[in-house]
Amino acid sequence: MSSDFEVVVVGAGSAGIAAARRLYEASIRCLVVEARPRLGGRAWTWTDPSGFALDLGCGWLHSADRNPWVRVAEDQGATIDKSPPAWMRPPLALSFPHADYADYRKALAEFYARLEEAAQSETDSAASTLLDPACRWNGLINAMSTYISGAELDRVSLKDLDRYHSTDVNWRVVEGYGAIISGYGAKLPVMLDCPVSAIDHSGKRLRIETAKGAIAADRVIVTVPSAILAAERIRFAPALPKKTQAARGLPLGHDDKLFMSLDRAEEFEKGVRVFGHTDRAATAGYHLRPFGRPMIEAYFGGALASELEGAGEGAFFNFAVAELVGVFGSNFAHRVKAIQIHHWGSDPFALGSYSFALPGYADCRQVLAEPIDDRLFFAGEACSKHDFSTAHGGFLTGVAAADRVLEVRRNQAK
Ligand SMILES: Cc1cc2nc3c(=O)[nH]c(=O)nc-3n(C[C@H](O)[C@H](O)[C@H](O)COP(=O)(O)OP(=O)(O)OC[C@H]3O[C@@H](n4cnc5c(N)ncnc54)[C@H](O)[C@@H]3O)c2cc1C
Repeated sequence: MSSDFEVVVVGAGSAGIAAARRLYEASIRCLVVEARPRLGGRAWTWTDPSGFALDLGCGWLHSADRNPWVRVAEDQGATIDKSPPAWMRPPLALSFPHADYADYRKALAEFYARLEEAAQSETDSAASTLLDPACRWNGLINAMSTYISGAELDRVSLKDLDRYHSTDVNWRVVEGYGAIISGYGAKLPVMLDCPVSAIDHSGKRLRIETAKGAIAADRVIVTVPSAILAAERIRFAPALPKKTQAARGLPLGHDDKLFMSLDRAEEFEKGVRVFGHTDRAATAGYHLRPFGRPMIEAYFGGALASELEGAGEGAFFNFAVAELVGVFGSNFAHRVKAIQIHHWGSDPFALGSYSFALPGYADCRQVLAEPIDDRLFFAGEACSKHDFSTAHGGFLTGVAAADRVLEVRRNQAK
């Protein structure tokens, strides 16, 4: 393969693939350089032995009525499931009596109303400052924060949290979100298994150091996760301290999904949600019979996910079984078996799950997205002001970066 390109895209996740598709369709000589042996990044569909497509990373087409991946999925002939998500319906009453659930929903709505109001102020603070100390649902509101942001509210900027835009339309794709995203990159020129270690932008042309040798390019679009930039896994010469600082203000929160098989699953309503506990942050959410499958999808976030990753083999499963036994009784332990999990926190090419902003760092998203010298461009979910933490946020920032490359090119040709 040649080692000279007009544009190199670093990273083949949703942002990198969307950026490269745009450039490829504009007939730009580009190459995608990806550290992993596969496309998709944090979008990853794994097929289990019974043939079910399990999304170990993103699974929900959030803001589906304006999510560009929906069109891609439709073009690929995929099956879109538009049934309302479990979290928008009441959970199983056994784990959360309906009256309590209504009380909790009210407290949650009040928390978000305070968030909206506080976000108007000049100063930013931790979202935890908006908890009502007298509210009995603070533990569970914090658990929600670990699912939404991958971190407890005391680590999360209230301004950034408020800037997230959701249309509250959430769909899924039976064949897997990850499969749709990697499928969109299938025809692109990609170098896999090829981590980039340095980008030298001191000379007339860029020099991109990779595990498979150096590549020369006129421009680069860097789409690696913010945690990779914060850890300086890619060295820039000259250094980019403003970018590194911005990335450090946008760490990746931590969320992992455990898939388990479930015997006699028909006993439960399709797609119902169960809470492990309702009085604490360190609890997992359980989605029973997702897509009607005989399975449970367990979602762990924040400090709990980090702790369980550190606790070694079987820790997630043991935790889940203990919580489920607490809800359904001891016989339940015989009905579940672990199928698959991916540890995103210790994944060397992610270092976490999705970005949130630390208190006072909400504006870092724009700093991270800003191009340098019309040669270094940046994309990825962490660069999105309103759609951060999502696969469609990645797509939109990727296309925006590619469009800026095309614009710069046009201006230079004049
Ligand atoms: C458990 C979990 C659940 C999620 N659920 C949802 C959901 O339901 N809906 C949703 O919209 N989003 C969800 N997300 C978030 C979503 O997956 C991400 O926001 C999105 O995939 C990020 O895309 P990206 O292109 O910005 O980054 P990535 O997908 O991380 O892409 C960056 C790429 O860069 C590569 N890379 C890293 N370092 C190097 C290097 N040195 N050289 C070359 N390449 C490198 C990586 O391998 C990766 O492929 C979830 C994520 C997780 C982990």
